[in-house]
Amino acid sequence: MCYAIPGQVVALCGRIATVEYFGERRKAYNEFPSLRVGDFVYAQGGFVIKVVPPEEAQEILATWKETFFELQEVDLRLARLEVEREGVERRILRMLDKALEERSLSKEELLALLGLQSPKEQELLYKVANFLRRKYHGNATCVHGILEISNFCSRNCAYCGLSTHNGALLRYRMSDEEVLEAVREAVEVYGFQALVLQSGEDPGRSVRELAELVREIKKRHAVLIFVSFGEVGLEGLEALYEAGARGILLRFETSNAELYEKLHPGYRLSHRLTHLERALELGYLVATGGLIGLPGQKLSDILEDILLTRALSAEMYSFGPFLPHPATPLAFSAPPSPSLVLNTLAVARLVDPKNAKILITTAFETLDPQARRMGLLSGASSLMLNVTPLKFRPYYTLYPGRAHEGETIREQVEQTLHLLRSLGRAPMDLGV
Ligand code: SAM
Repeated sequence: MCYAIPGQVVALCGRIATVEYFGERRKAYNEFPSLRVGDFVYAQGGFVIKVVPPEEAQEILATWKETFFELQEVDLRLARLEVEREGVERRILRMLDKALEERSLSKEELLALLGLQSPKEQELLYKVANFLRRKYHGNATCVHGILEISNFCSRNCAYCGLSTHNGALLRYRMSDEEVLEAVREAVEVYGFQALVLQSGEDPGRSVRELAELVREIKKRHAVLIFVSFGEVGLEGLEALYEAGARGILLRFETSNAELYEKLHPGYRLSHRLTHLERALELGYLVATGGLIGLPGQKLSDILEDILLTRALSAEMYSFGPFLPHPATPLAFSAPPSPSLVLNTLAVARLVDPKNAKILITTAFETLDPQARRMGLLSGASSLMLNVTPLKFRPYYTLYPGRAHEGETIREQVEQTLHLLRSLGRAPMDLGV
């Protein structure tokens, strides 16, 4: 299984390598002192992560070449803007034309698009978002793996099934050996090039121990590591970066400070934002975003969440629906409609057409089994597959009935490749 294609370095300027893939050029940050022009490399998320021997690279490129151009054609056909404009309000048409012309939209306009309810207008919004996704990102689709290494958590988030509210939950903490074996399987057997390590805020494993684990993974494998352990402290962020982590997945959850404090009693939004800002300064790729449909959240809050994600220079937008968990204070609150989630993904694409990798979350897939297909056709460009050993998955219960919970990695990979092929997408990350 291949989640990246090798590219050839065509220029080096300080730490920045220009890498060419079948005629397309991208920039990637290089940390290999011996890298030379002409070398073949794998890049992920804008980092060169591995130098590949030329024979191996040429063999992989030969198998990809035909498929690559075939996929591009399918994508091009699906991303055409041939849609019925009749029945769409003039002012909505004007806004979408503006988005296509790369003129920025006002908050009022973005809010109107976020709140669209007529299926015809929504269809046009999604088509425009998909057109912009293809224009700036081609058919490259990031497929990362996520490994949930512990479900212990000391926080009291009002929506989360791992929180202290859920006293009955059976807790697990994977041992270092179990984590290393799961990483080995994901990287060596299934070809993942980027992995997110996630857990609750687990007092049973210190940041120093987490950093040692990351260091050991980086010693054994050329893989891009995202950490997602919550608020590890600013020194913790440094230690994890120094150990080799290069990405962080940390949602701010909501940009509305009042709502944040209501849902996380005793905690502050500003503290979380300080982490995100520091992570960016340190050089992490930042994946962040918010929950859609939280009780008490307004449409304008969701728009502010999208704008904050852009302001934080996020590499990846992680926006998913709130789903009620029965053992939390929000047990009886309703989840949002799938179309509000799609509107959010599409508006995020309009707000940040060139940079955003936009994730389709498992929560969205749990809300609607068509989420992946619909999301990929509405501006999204990124997926995460669960590489946690099957025996632990039933206990990582953020919300009930998580999609893919019982599926092996192989099954998920096969389904994903099948879907991506049908949409003309290539499962790879070409960097930036
Ligand atoms: N401790 C880390 C952190 O705070 O980012 C990572 C683990 S946390 C459980 C991962 C994400 O799960 C959170 O950012 C939150 O948005 C999401 N989540 C938790 N409960 C959820 C729910 N009921 N519905 C949807 N998403 C939920």
